[in-house]
Amino acid sequence: QKPVPSDIAISRSCVPKPIDRLAREVGLLSDEVELYGKTKAKVQLNIIKRLQAQPDGKYVVVTGITPTPLGEGKSTTTIGLVQALGAHMKLNVFACVRQPSQGPTFGIKGGAAGGGYSQVIPMEEFNLHLTGDIHAITAANNLVAAAIDARMFHEATQSDKALYNRLVPLSGGQRTFSPIQINRLKKLGIEKTDPSTLTEEEITRFARLDIEPSSVTWQRVLDTNDRFLRKITIGQSPTEKGHTREAQFDITVASEIMAVLALTSSLEDMRQRLAKMVVATSRSGEPITTEDLGVSGALTVLMRDAIKPNLMQTLEGNPVFVHAGPFANIAHGNSSILADKIALKLVGPEVHGFQLTEAGFGADIGMEKFFNIKCRYSGLRPHVVVLVATVRALKMHGGGPTVTAGMPLPKEYIEENLELLEKGCSNMRKQIENAQHFGVPVVVAVNGFKTDTEAELDLVCSMAKAAGAFDAVRCSHWAEGGAGAVALGQAVQRASEAPSNFKFLYDLELPIADKIRIIGQKIYGADDIELLPEAQRKVELYTKQGFGNLPICMAKTHLSLSHEADKKGVPTGFVLPIRDIRASVGSGFLFPLVGTMPTIPGLPTRPCFYDIDLDPETEQVNGLF
Ligand code: ADP
Repeated sequence: QKPVPSDIAISRSCVPKPIDRLAREVGLLSDEVELYGKTKAKVQLNIIKRLQAQPDGKYVVVTGITPTPLGEGKSTTTIGLVQALGAHMKLNVFACVRQPSQGPTFGIKGGAAGGGYSQVIPMEEFNLHLTGDIHAITAANNLVAAAIDARMFHEATQSDKALYNRLVPLSGGQRTFSPIQINRLKKLGIEKTDPSTLTEEEITRFARLDIEPSSVTWQRVLDTNDRFLRKITIGQSPTEKGHTREAQFDITVASEIMAVLALTSSLEDMRQRLAKMVVATSRSGEPITTEDLGVSGALTVLMRDAIKPNLMQTLEGNPVFVHAGPFANIAHGNSSILADKIALKLVGPEVHGFQLTEAGFGADIGMEKFFNIKCRYSGLRPHVVVLVATVRALKMHGGGPTVTAGMPLPKEYIEENLELLEKGCSNMRKQIENAQHFGVPVVVAVNGFKTDTEAELDLVCSMAKAAGAFDAVRCSHWAEGGAGAVALGQAVQRASEAPSNFKFLYDLELPIADKIRIIGQKIYGADDIELLPEAQRKVELYTKQGFGNLPICMAKTHLSLSHEADKKGVPTGFVLPIRDIRASVGSGFLFPLVGTMPTIPGLPTRPCFYDIDLDPETEQVNGLF
């Protein structure tokens, strides 16, 4: 077999078709498409209305077993499968994937456009900037952060009356409220629109948000792996008169605005979600929102282009939406609902049109959140779960040595070892069971690596079928493109016709602790959960504030079914500790913290950027992978 060239070499060897041609091929009208150069375009949301009467295509979610730190090929399989169904089986297809953060592209992990002969192209466009959605989120997020600190500063340095006079300035001899200010008055129970009629007491309540500085949960963000921003002190210039505060930066994809983008269903809905985001608590215990800060309209303006999905293509010319990329631990790690909805309509006319969407991390995290959070908000019901498994990850679960990114694989992973593999299949069995909790048929995709032996690949397939998978298929799309995933495509097609009986794992009306316990016991295999004091306090606070009915978004390591990354296979006999719980009220979930979660990565000693450069002659980007 010929060696497979590097991802960037493969990506560059293929000339993408003009994106306006692809847009026409998939049934988009020219005035629904906004071109960003020749290989990327944004599509307008009114397509959903135009195609309202059309049936949806079949909806497939791609997830995986508990991975090694190297990743087991979910993105690669999503793209390989769409190439198989589209370019080889001639069906209408669409893939919807997340936009990667630029932090890891320059840091340790490299890009996320798939790999080998299953990629989104051009990969440098995909991995860098795209159409600026992440930059828009950075701008919107940091406007909120600036608004919070400026407001606390102005409230601390001005009397009620001076504050009010500045918030509602005289113009042509009169004061008028802006629509956002009238919303705030309504929230306070003051049904007035004429500023001259406010009482002294109402003026104070209106003008003072009275934010408790230690309660601010909103952080500044940047799309760079910069560990020195994990804890900072702001306000150190003399102009801020000693109003310093400890704060931090998160990576942009961890911003709640990214989660809002991923879960919103329309411009109107995004405006409402951007207004509901809770950024702090007042000294009297009231939640303070972005609407209270007066910034929600401006956020919607900053996000008005980002809400439109980005059209790109695979190496074999199939359509892909790249849209939203929320963090998979403190957020839900799935691409956008809007991209899925538009794509499902576009593949709809044909009986067997397929839309594939990828859920981040392993099935215990990404898939569970896909069902319980994303599907709950979208109303969409998947027909098939594709569970990606690799021989190397299963050997690790069977007790193989630690696998570390950037280090050579130990010999257990290069030589045949059926014993380790069979033992490790326990993890796959559990993840199949996890998918079955939701009543959807599971097809296992065994993503073959060149070191895997026939006997090993066959063993994984037979173990998966014995564990109740609808089917289990070997695939080689990384080395061969779509042709290597045709058998997988056929299995997915058959599975999509099998009866499915979708159900959620828990009811939203259950108390917060019960919802967490159900996930812990049924999905992770925990004996029970333990709410530590801070988590207990938050359960009470959020229940009192009326956020108790939100779905749960667990922030847990993806490297184990349990909360301890080094416990492989199927850990048993553990109690899941819940350290704290936070609320993303605008995006619409509570996120319990199981352990500490880094929210901005750092750079390694030799980051990927050492290899990245521009060839001034050809203007080609070198060194991405
Ligand atoms: P995930 O989405 O699960 O994190 P990716 O699809 O990004 O995983 O794949 C992780 C890395 O492994 C990528 O660099 C990809 O090119 C590589 N990879 C995936 N499948 C194979 C394979 N079958 N053989 C060799 N490398 C692969």
